[in-house]
Amino acid sequence: MGRLVMKFGGTSVADIERIRNVARHVEREVKAGNHVAVVVSAMAGTTNQLVEWCRQAAAVHDAREYDAIVSTGEQITAGLLAIVLQDMGIPARSWAGWQIPIETDGVHGAARMTHINGAEIVKRMEQGQVAVITGFQGIGPDKRVSTLGRGGSDTSAVAVAAALEAACDIYTDVDGVYTADPRIVTAAQKLDRISYEEMLEQASLGAKVLQTRSVELAMVYKVPLQVRSSFEPPDSPNQNKPDGTGPGTIVCDEDKIVEQHVVSGIAYSRDEAKVSIRRVKDQPGVSAAIFGPLAEADISVDMIVQNLSHDGAFTDITFTLARKDLRKAIEVINAMKSKVGFDDVVHSADVAKISVVGIGMRSHAGVAAKMFKSLADKGINIQAITTSEIKVSVLIDEAYTELAVRALHQAYGLDKK
Ligand code: ASP
Ligand code: MG
Repeated sequence: MGRLVMKFGGTSVADIERIRNVARHVEREVKAGNHVAVVVSAMAGTTNQLVEWCRQAAAVHDAREYDAIVSTGEQITAGLLAIVLQDMGIPARSWAGWQIPIETDGVHGAARMTHINGAEIVKRMEQGQVAVITGFQGIGPDKRVSTLGRGGSDTSAVAVAAALEAACDIYTDVDGVYTADPRIVTAAQKLDRISYEEMLEQASLGAKVLQTRSVELAMVYKVPLQVRSSFEPPDSPNQNKPDGTGPGTIVCDEDKIVEQHVVSGIAYSRDEAKVSIRRVKDQPGVSAAIFGPLAEADISVDMIVQNLSHDGAFTDITFTLARKDLRKAIEVINAMKSKVGFDDVVHSADVAKISVVGIGMRSHAGVAAKMFKSLADKGINIQAITTSEIKVSVLIDEAYTELAVRALHQAYGLDKK
């Protein structure tokens, strides 16, 4: 019992039947005595359609009007869910972000929330009214509707939970966070718990379960977060496990995780490309001259490798970036050729990034070595490596993605018994 924010993604509200199903999940929590706010996404496919209409109207368009249009998807779902709840005898009303208000900065299309005034919502929740809130949007300093960027409803939900001092359950089409993508690794297991930091790495490595920003927010404001399935029947006995582990995966502080694995998951991303600039001068300022213009062109680079210079005069620089940015990056690099001076630039999009993630790495040696050995045993060549405190990533030939993920999953003892 307490304050609870329940967030439902697009597939969970894809039609009226599913909205009724969502309402039954809400009903269960209300009956359990919780004060509930719901944050909803647009019905599956709706936002894509709205974005596409903007593009068809004019390839280049006013971001404020884009926001006026794409924010409507969530308004539809919020209103529909409120109607269904009322029909079930549960007091409810819909709230658009601007009505609360959820204040944001003025970056239309990619706004960040700056302040949420939860007072009115809390008052109504305490009177037993369910607040159904539009995800993905707020109101900018210009008093116009703003949106948070694609996938932003997760972040809305966590921010609302932080403002209301509530726990946050994210209902989605998977039943939790897995040790690896279950479509690739049949032996993958659902985790009962994962730390904020590991979840953050997973999200930024491309695991689609939660928007990265939402995990950051949850970590900063210590919002108790749970990822769970909206397709598990609302009245299933599994919904409230007596041991308090929850039906999904709980994202929490690491000290709340009793049974710790050294590695908690293997992630992969095929959205990678590799660029090598050959024979640049080995002298101060060269990296700045290369990566400065790339940053200005809004291209984020990920791994960077600079080879040892054999003659002390020239070296090669290799880096990775998102595949969608490859063409632009090559243009930017070619444009700097006369200024920077290099022999040529080669690139490849047939690469994938495989990562092992785990907070246990901080205290256990040999995690990276085990990764390299497992890949070597499968004859997989490593093209680049990066590490953080709780992650080791390697770049490999894309064709070996599945093989690598499965081999590592087994090597770290993550396979389901
Ligand atoms: N409907 C928005 C989108 O598709 C926000 C969300 O669903 O998280 O990006
Ligand atoms: Mg989503």
